[in-house]
Amino acid sequence: MIEKKQLDFATNAIHAGQKPDSDSGAIMTPIYQTSTYVQESPGVHKGYEYARTANPTREALEANVAALEGARFGFAFSSGMAAISTLTNLLQQGDHVVVADNVYGGTYRFFQQVMANFGLTFSFVDTSDFSRVEEAVRPNTRMIFIETPTNPLLRLTDIAQLATFCKHKDLLLAVDNTFMSPYFQRPLSLGADIVVHSSTKYLNGHSDVVGGIVLLNDESIAERIGFLQNSAGAVPGPFDCWLVLRATKTLPLRMRQHNSNAGEIARFLVEHPKVEKIIYPGLPSHPQHELAKKQQLDPYGKPGYGGMISFELGSFERGKAFLEKVRVFSLAESLGGVESLISHPASMTHASVPADERQRIGLSDSLVRISVGVEYVDDLIQDIEQALE
Ligand SMILES: *Cc1c(COP(=O)(O)O)cnc(C)c1O
Repeated sequence: MIEKKQLDFATNAIHAGQKPDSDSGAIMTPIYQTSTYVQESPGVHKGYEYARTANPTREALEANVAALEGARFGFAFSSGMAAISTLTNLLQQGDHVVVADNVYGGTYRFFQQVMANFGLTFSFVDTSDFSRVEEAVRPNTRMIFIETPTNPLLRLTDIAQLATFCKHKDLLLAVDNTFMSPYFQRPLSLGADIVVHSSTKYLNGHSDVVGGIVLLNDESIAERIGFLQNSAGAVPGPFDCWLVLRATKTLPLRMRQHNSNAGEIARFLVEHPKVEKIIYPGLPSHPQHELAKKQQLDPYGKPGYGGMISFELGSFERGKAFLEKVRVFSLAESLGGVESLISHPASMTHASVPADERQRIGLSDSLVRISVGVEYVDDLIQDIEQALE
């Protein structure tokens, strides 16, 4: 059999983890919509006993995304939060975690309002500043959890630098790679231990599934994650797995278009007098543009900056008026779909982050975040232009 990992990213996106169905020859992996599997005699079976533990459609998805992230192991979950919660289950009471300070609002909420009740402690620091990470590490620190770029301020953390530090200190480095997708960033290749995704976003990309996935190389941690996946049971259904598997086939095409559309829109916004501050890692004005150029690379070594742009419109009222006037963009939470979305983090995705904490990290009330889809870019620019008038 061909070793799929040696094939190109785009080829893996279509083929990895999948083979024609042995019964019918169906080229598409079937949706194994079953809860259990028939055994020939007690304990004699085809490797499947009960569908929480294993399902062939789920396994195909796990192998597919693992190939894209350059991982040996993948574990799919029913949501991004279920995947992230599983990572905290690797820890024990008394452990401390250093977390990037503008992570996804739901991650912040889960760490602070749920896991903190179980004897875990969290320090939220600006991990884009390496000295802050060094200061935050304590003798009981076990894990560093980052998102890069962060949501919605698009701050970057140098993954390779942090990975070297974590190896030295014997800490686990977990990276939420949702924003870049494996097409534009592969943290394991930079030394991270664990990658997590909300596959709800770019991996699925069609706004019709909530899902999550964990990818890693270490065999003993993988064994534990597999154990937790089965024990805690937050597994995705086979139909959702099938949808994501269908979607990853076009991940390279979609990511290239998201990236090129967002680049054009960012350059348009820079020229517009009503827009005050534009945050996009692809702009030379982004404080970490050089790091983005080095760290966010497509499989062929060309930099990419993704489809997320944040910008300020001066006041809450102007931001609100803009959100109400767009026609092609839809006002909605979430991101990473083929259709363009617009949101207001302070009142939507980050409403669960207290106002003083939002202020501290620089998330202003007039900040607007767009998830640039793959529509014809001139239609998107025209829509923004008329809404800004
Ligand atoms: C959406 C999101 C999550 C949570 O994922 P769900 O699938 O909604 O549970 C985690 N991290 C990031 C960066 C996200 O955008």
